[in-house]
Amino acid sequence: MLKIQDYRPQPFIDFTKAENVQAYEAALKKVRAELVGKHYPMVIDGERVDTAEKLTSLNPCDTSEVVGTTAKATIEDAERALQGAWKAFETWKTWDMDARARILLKASAILKRRHLEACALMSIEVGKNYAEADVEVAEAIDFLEYYARSAMKYSGFGSSETTWFEGEENGLMSLPLGVGVSISPWNFPCAIFVGMLAAPIVVGNCVIAKPAEDSGLIAGFIADIMYEAGLPAGVLQFLPGVGKDVGEYLTTHAKTRFITFTGSRAVGLHINEVAAKVQPGQKWIKKVVLELGGKDGMIVDETADLEVAITAAVQGAFGFNGQKCSAMSRLIVVDAVYDDVVNGFVERASKLKMGTGEENANVTAVVNQMSFDKIKGYLEIAPQEGKVLLGGEAPGECNGKQGYYVQATIVGDVKREARMAQEEIFGPVISVIRAKDWQDALDIANSTEYGLTGGVCSRNRARLEQARQELEVGNLYFNRKITGAIVGVQPFGGYNMSGTDSKAGGPDYLAYFMQLKTVTERW
Ligand code: NAD
Repeated sequence: MLKIQDYRPQPFIDFTKAENVQAYEAALKKVRAELVGKHYPMVIDGERVDTAEKLTSLNPCDTSEVVGTTAKATIEDAERALQGAWKAFETWKTWDMDARARILLKASAILKRRHLEACALMSIEVGKNYAEADVEVAEAIDFLEYYARSAMKYSGFGSSETTWFEGEENGLMSLPLGVGVSISPWNFPCAIFVGMLAAPIVVGNCVIAKPAEDSGLIAGFIADIMYEAGLPAGVLQFLPGVGKDVGEYLTTHAKTRFITFTGSRAVGLHINEVAAKVQPGQKWIKKVVLELGGKDGMIVDETADLEVAITAAVQGAFGFNGQKCSAMSRLIVVDAVYDDVVNGFVERASKLKMGTGEENANVTAVVNQMSFDKIKGYLEIAPQEGKVLLGGEAPGECNGKQGYYVQATIVGDVKREARMAQEEIFGPVISVIRAKDWQDALDIANSTEYGLTGGVCSRNRARLEQARQELEVGNLYFNRKITGAIVGVQPFGGYNMSGTDSKAGGPDYLAYFMQLKTVTERW
């Protein structure tokens, strides 16, 4: 019997051990020989289908290299995928919960065997270094294991509690919604992609998965694992394509029952709006789950262990070049320790090495030209908005390789209302904000419209308790980095403009993809 109590998160690989580094390097060789240059077609109703046009995935750390290609779905393909998924739903919804869960567990087992290959592919396709890629694949495995086990509580009649009533049987049935679309970002192209398709699927829905344009290969790799694990035709429709094209078509479609989206605030709010409009022939109110951006702040007060705070700042700010929704993009320091913290932060960050994901560099290239240009725009305004204490350049080149390279950048004395302190930059560019005192720091932390992650480094118990109540974030961390949520351990998701607070990897996440029916029988 599958039980959530048996779930254990994957351990991370220790890359201080030479044998683990060698194993990673061997995986890079294997992936270069077998996966780089590969083409992934769409998969609709179990058939591999190709398109005349293709989407090309570039190596961000060496843009002269094409990592591979995928099909580029058309509107007709999207329509076919949707119709086929509804057909598949008729059977898939009748499967026992444990039978569906077993497919996730099988996929997890395959991914465990191919763990380093998935890592290596991400190093090449999106520039993740070894540790960043490893924690992401571990998270993908965790999602499969966790959702498989947590599905069991929705199995069968009376699965949720109702109160006893004389002369009747009463109970709740949890039913899948139908067919939905899952639209994912490039920054966690393995974990978020897999989590957002596995959760709805395990409880009986069929899903059209549209990966991000920049990370189609890793998505194709994962989709293949799901098919190998035994997903029947049509349950998962793999549909690489352009967001504003097939994504838009599917989110506005009358036959789309739910949308699960992770990405930017702008696109998420747009989807929320168009999905709310009822289309001719539409029978339901679409369910929309949104996980959006952040402008995450970490406070350091005068009682903090400054060594702990500086380590947390460097890890939270520069892991995967700040390209995490949870990344610390604002460091908020009370005046009394401002100089000590900032000097330590700059000193430690100045040691980060720039290079490729394959070289296991600390700072690699950002994902694409659009990101690079956007970040460069912020570097241009940085000298007006504060003091550039480290970095400040986007060389676009490293060790003779052309790529989207941006230096680890720290800008001090940024005003709380400055653009750099309010807008999501999504790169290695950090604003440090000086607070008068603790209360001022808390006010600054809450001064954005986002509410994703946040943190406090302090040894003052009363302040930590105040922050626990008052800091407006979905994931709050004390005396550690503010990134790296683990499935089941730290259910993840933000509120305010950071999303619908659905808490991926949390105990109630699957309920977003179900509807309840209360059934009463009078004896
Ligand atoms: P994005 O919004 O540009 O794209 C996300 C996805 O939406 C892609 O698959 C894209 O093709 C698709 N899309 C674009 N336009 C669309 C449209 N009109 N209709 C339907 N789909 C459309 O985001 P991104 O650059 O891929 O990802 C980075 C963003 O994601 C950041 O803002 C980051 O904070 C956020 N993010 C949030 C979380 C979270 O859990 N809250 C996790 C990871 C990333």
